[in-house]
Amino acid sequence: MKAARFAYERPADLSSAVRALGEYAAASGDAKPMAGGQSLGPMLNLRLARPGRVIDLSRIAALRCIESAATSASVVPDGRWRIGAAVTHAEIEDSPAPLDGRGFLRHVASGIAYRAVRNRGTIGGSLAHADPAADWPLALNALGAQVCILGPGGRRDVSAADFMRAGFSTVLADDEIIEAIDGPVLSAEARWGYWKICRKTGEFPEASAAAVFDPVRGHARIVAGALGTAPVALEGLAEAVARLGSVALTTHAVDQALVDAVSGLDAVERKLHVTALLRATRQVFES
Ligand SMILES: Cc1cc2nc3c(=O)[nH]c(=O)nc-3n(C[C@H](O)[C@H](O)[C@H](O)COP(=O)(O)OP(=O)(O)OC[C@H]3O[C@@H](n4cnc5c(N)ncnc54)[C@H](O)[C@@H]3O)c2cc1C
Repeated sequence: MKAARFAYERPADLSSAVRALGEYAAASGDAKPMAGGQSLGPMLNLRLARPGRVIDLSRIAALRCIESAATSASVVPDGRWRIGAAVTHAEIEDSPAPLDGRGFLRHVASGIAYRAVRNRGTIGGSLAHADPAADWPLALNALGAQVCILGPGGRRDVSAADFMRAGFSTVLADDEIIEAIDGPVLSAEARWGYWKICRKTGEFPEASAAAVFDPVRGHARIVAGALGTAPVALEGLAEAVARLGSVALTTHAVDQALVDAVSGLDAVERKLHVTALLRATRQVFES
């Protein structure tokens, strides 16, 4: 199948992109931003998306920068990093900048699909697409990152934990784009774990989990992904693990925390998710 007819625009800067999106949305047209086209492309071809206009963000320099306090004298405050929405997974994987300070972002990026997909797919596109099994919604939730959103009314920041409302649904309005993702640099004492259960390497996972503990920042988060909806944080379990250490990490405790937070899992799904959660959180104590 081929995509239905649409107009194509490739603005050179951020304000032109937001203006184009706002004007078209206001005129009751259905405009869609496009970044790497790794999800939007197939959706257009299958006619699951039929926008009247596609606004290509891939050439906007402001969306393509990676910054941390260590690499930039301005923009990013101390202890933070910032990744433009149109930065590809491969650019994060290869980034020479220290970014989160503990290699978490690089690790997550390097495990997304295959290099060919990572060369084009972007962090902002992944968040906006909001596939329940995608890596960035899970990882950025666990890290405590913020999504910086730009629209005709100005800028607003939303925590990554609140950005995704459900599978394929986010808080983004039709005339808004993701400008960047902003997050904390982890301390030297911080530890993380990340685990995906996939049938084949490079496929979307059947279960996934992320754990990030940073005692210096008082940050403790264990998050389950690939649940068919937005990632789910297991706050009680994370608090118990932060307080008691690995003794709090029993199969029973993880299973109970999952069942308390998520309903409707069958026995096989429950086992897969408990395994992913245990593996990810155990990595915290092994690293
Ligand atoms: C074979 C294959 C395997 C994959 N495996 C995985 C995997 O294992 N894990 C994983 O996480 N992902 C996986 N992906 C998804 C991929 O990594 C991309 O992240 C994803 O396709 C979206 O990124 P994109 O830049 O291509 O976005 P696009 O396809 O260009 O856009 C996707 C959606 O986001 C919107 N959008 C894009 N950029 C913005 C923006 N800045 N602001 C607002 N809205 C925006 C578009 O309008 C569209 O609705 C896979 C993709 C393929 C094709």
